[in-house]
Amino acid sequence: MSIKDNLTALKEELPKEVTLVAVSKTKPNASILEAYDAGHRVFGENKIQEMTQKWETLPKDIEWHMIGHVQRNKVKYMAEYVSLIHGVDSFKLLKEIDKQAKKHNRVIPCLLQVHIAEEESKFGLDKSELEGIVNSEEFKNFENIKVIGVMGMATYTQDQSQIRKEFAYLKSIFEFLSDKLLDISVLSMGMSGDYTIAIEEGSTMVRIGSSIFGARNYSQ
Ligand SMILES: *Cc1c(COP(=O)(O)O)cnc(C)c1O
Repeated sequence: MSIKDNLTALKEELPKEVTLVAVSKTKPNASILEAYDAGHRVFGENKIQEMTQKWETLPKDIEWHMIGHVQRNKVKYMAEYVSLIHGVDSFKLLKEIDKQAKKHNRVIPCLLQVHIAEEESKFGLDKSELEGIVNSEEFKNFENIKVIGVMGMATYTQDQSQIRKEFAYLKSIFEFLSDKLLDISVLSMGMSGDYTIAIEEGSTMVRIGSSIFGARNYSQ
């Protein structure tokens, strides 16, 4: 199936209120343009440098989402154009995003990444760290960032009940945050292998790569 066919099938399957982020990391501009020509506008990347190169060369009405781990010293490269940063996992990073957004007179929407998986390797805050951030005085004074939700990645496992449990937990944190802050609307969870469960557990935004663009080849 072509990229266009994959996208069409996926969009038919997803509930209307769920936003699809087409994860184009490692994929060439030609593949992104194929999705673009099929009408898609929201793309996700996990490396700031790669995303910036794509932003420079591809149509300007594309919304670029940073879904990967963000190094503070690279925020400046995407502050001008990034539409949503999914992987915010520290107060220091929020502070840097606020600072760089100010330089461009922007308010950058952000998601707090929560650690929900069993694996140690996955990034993210635990609930108490998240509470610490949103309860702090300094957080209330940020003018150039807006936290609009949470993001998480489930354990990579065949155990569906484990995945479901982790997504349900993220949903509970989403609800906790909704009670504390205004404008919380995004629950970013679900990838190619687990988006069906994520949607059943209340996801409002799925990040899907290989089911649209095919498997990635990292050895290139
Ligand atoms: C790569 C990636 C995805 C997409 O993964 P697929 O399995 O290809 O759908 C989603 N979220 C994050 C954070 C990723 O890094």
